Amino acid sequence: MQWPALIDVHWIFNLPAELQYLSLHYLKCIINMNKASRLFCPALVIPKNAVVKQTEQLSLSQKLLTELGLVKPGSNGTYQIMPIAQRALDNCVSLVQRNMQEAGGQKISLPVLTPTQLWKKTGRLDGDISEFYMVRDRSGKQFLMSPTHEEAITAMLATTAPISYRQLPLLLYQIGPKFRDELKSRFGLMRAKEFLMKDMYTFDVTKEKAELTYATVSEAYERFFRQLEVPFVKVEAATGIMGGSQSHEYHYISPVGEDTLLNCSSCGYAGNAEVFEPDASSTCPTCRSTQLNRVRGVEVAHTFLLGDKYSKPLGATFLNTSGKPETLVMGCYGIGITRIIAAALEVLSTEHELRWPTLLAPYDVCLIGPKQGSKEQVPAERLENDLLQQLTQICGDQQLLHDDRKELTIGKRLLDAKRLGHPLTIVVGAKAMQQDAPKLELHASGSEKIELNINEVLERVALHVRHKQQLLQQMPSSETDVRIRQTVSHVH
Ligand SMILES: [Zn+2]
Repeated sequence: MQWPALIDVHWIFNLPAELQYLSLHYLKCIINMNKASRLFCPALVIPKNAVVKQTEQLSLSQKLLTELGLVKPGSNGTYQIMPIAQRALDNCVSLVQRNMQEAGGQKISLPVLTPTQLWKKTGRLDGDISEFYMVRDRSGKQFLMSPTHEEAITAMLATTAPISYRQLPLLLYQIGPKFRDELKSRFGLMRAKEFLMKDMYTFDVTKEKAELTYATVSEAYERFFRQLEVPFVKVEAATGIMGGSQSHEYHYISPVGEDTLLNCSSCGYAGNAEVFEPDASSTCPTCRSTQLNRVRGVEVAHTFLLGDKYSKPLGATFLNTSGKPETLVMGCYGIGITRIIAAALEVLSTEHELRWPTLLAPYDVCLIGPKQGSKEQVPAERLENDLLQQLTQICGDQQLLHDDRKELTIGKRLLDAKRLGHPLTIVVGAKAMQQDAPKLELHASGSEKIELNINEVLERVALHVRHKQQLLQQMPSSETDVRIRQTVSHVH
């Protein structure tokens, strides 16, 4: 029994009414709290001497995520997200949403199935279609399991009763699954056949206005990437299959990246190698310098100014100031949410331990209590219960993971906590029972353990919560550019 005093709750009803209310509230928090003993986390047990069949290329993030039971491979190239990783994914979704709303975005949901008819009109079925999943319904009508939604959203606006210039700009976004039948799906969530994406589409009256919207959304993107605290680079990119006139990509620098990025050390220009002319790939297109750094990047976000590439063929118009229809000017903006999780872990983690961006970590704090049957068990549990209550007040019950698997040693549970990369892990062990100066162990992700008294531990947790709040409030700044340059010149 781990909660003798709590499982028998009759004592609550002997308390005065106001204390009853508080106790019940406390009890509710404890019951709702995340218990490691209840957590579905199907870790991969690899028997000693096992011959591991290497069916696809592994990356550090994929290895850790599957071994620790955060992600399970589904059928070839798809992945099943388990509860701990789902929490990180949800954190990423809410951070993306926050930034899209701040930029003026409105959230919608479009069907996964897009009639292929629409893609014929924009000419996108004329090229290579080997990466598209196509299905037919019972009447024989053909659909794409959408890899992107330009056609679908533009057709939706085209069939909407006249849109007035007064309603523009319009920024609509969604967060949902996307499908791509990759020839080489690899590195787990980094390049899967089904993935979670945020896609935003913007509509303006003129090219100039669309450029202003592009700048606003780009600012939101930069803020989002700063909030994640993973070094990133923003580079000029080719417009490719999307078309349009202007395009930027956001990358995390990693050897498993599939893009080559070039950065000019004299003028700071940064671009995907694909935008450089093949014979001039060693010369900066802006200042003609030959001092170029090369790095590998994982593309995690992409923005495009599309112009009328989709609105014209699909007839999406608005009524101008004199009531005449004009073609809408568009932009589109993607963030690969599952890919960001994998790529951020790829950059931050060590060989054996996950490291999360602060705002994405599944939990803020993991609390480990004494082992069952140890001599300090009873008094240490009293302290553990007090701590649970106090921690809940500081970081909220949903941010706290209580490792209540008391049949396991502290050492075993601490090893798990470290591998999962919780930002803060607190251990209530033998030293917590020292009469004169009880001490708790605090393990911050990536740091050596320190011994602190209870108040110091609580202060450290409060500091972490404050840091998260500060990250969320981060306002636009020009530091980004400096950081981009520093990142590229450091990493190569
Ligand atoms: Zn240059």
